[in-house]
Amino acid sequence: MSAQIFFGSKFQKFAAGELPIENVEEDKPFKYIAQNLEQTFGEPKLGAKSDALTMLVKIILSQATSDANSRRTFQNLKKQFASWEKVLAKQTSEIADAIRLGGLANQKARVIKELLVQIKEQHGTLNLKFLDKMPDEAARDYLSNLRGIGPKTVACTLLFALHKEVFPLDTHIFRVFRRMGILPERITDTKAHRLLDQLVPHGKFYSLHVNTIRLGRQICRPREPLCEQCPLIEYCDYGLTRM
Ligand code: SF4
Repeated sequence: MSAQIFFGSKFQKFAAGELPIENVEEDKPFKYIAQNLEQTFGEPKLGAKSDALTMLVKIILSQATSDANSRRTFQNLKKQFASWEKVLAKQTSEIADAIRLGGLANQKARVIKELLVQIKEQHGTLNLKFLDKMPDEAARDYLSNLRGIGPKTVACTLLFALHKEVFPLDTHIFRVFRRMGILPERITDTKAHRLLDQLVPHGKFYSLHVNTIRLGRQICRPREPLCEQCPLIEYCDYGLTRM
């Protein structure tokens, strides 16, 4: 049975992603899901906290390109403009020229410029240090209200830079959690992120994020997932149908 057929079948338990959270928690105990993944892949640790605005721009630049390209693109931007004030003062086309290497330069330059304009208007200065002191949810809501910034970018920025407990979902995590029956086939990015923020146990946001991506790359591959090797099979709706 292919995963595609499975998703549309009677095994899909969600109607519209509105299942009470307690039902999901009972059926898919995230404490054990995180534990099983750590037994397989180890427990990744976050580095030191870092500047949130720098992280936000790095994440925008990392979209649709390799890690190496994205790193070089960021270095290029910093080399050409010594401060965020200098970036803000430039035309979008000049910012795009500085980040051309990473692809989608015009689009990314528009997002970065718009982001800096909004932060400057709202705070009079170009930094996001105030987010560090905000509760996780309030920080998430602040970034989510900035135009052009999606839920994954918000979550990556807050988790990686400020160690906030906000869970980022990428394409691998969506696939794994859909197959497991944690996420319905149709759900908006925002709703999926909010759901996971409630399900992931305290202290496991980074570990679960990194390890679920590893699982998605190595075992729960887009085609022919290796369910017989999977540490999550006991919690997986699709995997159990293949036993
Ligand atoms: S058992 Fe594991 S590999 Fe198989 S579909 Fe489920 S999560 Fe993916």
